[in-house]
Amino acid sequence: MWITAIVLAGGSGKRMNTDTPKQYLMLDGKPLLYYSLKAFEESLVNEIILVTKAGEEEYCRKEFVEQYGFQKVTSIVAGGKERYHSVLNGLRAVINCDYVMIHDGARPLLTPHIIEHTAEAVKTHQACVVGMPVKDTIQIVNEKGVIKETPKRSTVWQAQTPQAFAFTMVRDAYEKIVQESVVEVTDDAMVVGRYYDVPVYMVEGSYANIKVTTPEDIPVAEAMLHLQNN
Ligand code: C5P
Repeated sequence: MWITAIVLAGGSGKRMNTDTPKQYLMLDGKPLLYYSLKAFEESLVNEIILVTKAGEEEYCRKEFVEQYGFQKVTSIVAGGKERYHSVLNGLRAVINCDYVMIHDGARPLLTPHIIEHTAEAVKTHQACVVGMPVKDTIQIVNEKGVIKETPKRSTVWQAQTPQAFAFTMVRDAYEKIVQESVVEVTDDAMVVGRYYDVPVYMVEGSYANIKVTTPEDIPVAEAMLHLQNN
């Protein structure tokens, strides 16, 4: 049973408003990207493929992989324009495996425990996504900002990562989606669900597993990392 993790760090982090791409920002003394690589390194995952911004592969090899001695990183590949292009580049770098876990490098609070849960679920169901029930009520609004629908809260979960799938299925789905011009692809389950009639199971993650996206996420992530690591 071979499990490959694809860690995405090919974004530009526009919503962070800093010159430094967010994956390189320091959190509690280490770069943001370090934490999810460490979680996979210490987990049952067999190998890690790191996707970086094009042209930053060597920088990432030196600064993250060699600097911290991550042994499971087998390739570092360039990402693409949108997240789904980066995912496809990562999938194309996989030589062979049974299952793939796709993870946002911008989620530093991933734990080996969440990875284990995800692995169990994907072996049973072939497709699963880590997430948590929403705490707030979610409203669907139209383009004028007027509320149109209030989904029942108990049915609404926020999707996190990792998202894990049987390898051949997810690679095939991504090869197909780049052939189409689908505008908003923000999630791997969306891609698989478009081409395969397979139930995608939600695996309970953690409220701490946030995606560091805007400046106010930094002190929050830092405080939670500090708690987790001490
Ligand atoms: O932009 P968003 O917050 O959805 O990014 C989620 C993850 O996908 C981040 O870890 C980011 O680095 C990665 N990403 C990528 N290539 C892109 C855009 C985002 O690897 N073109």
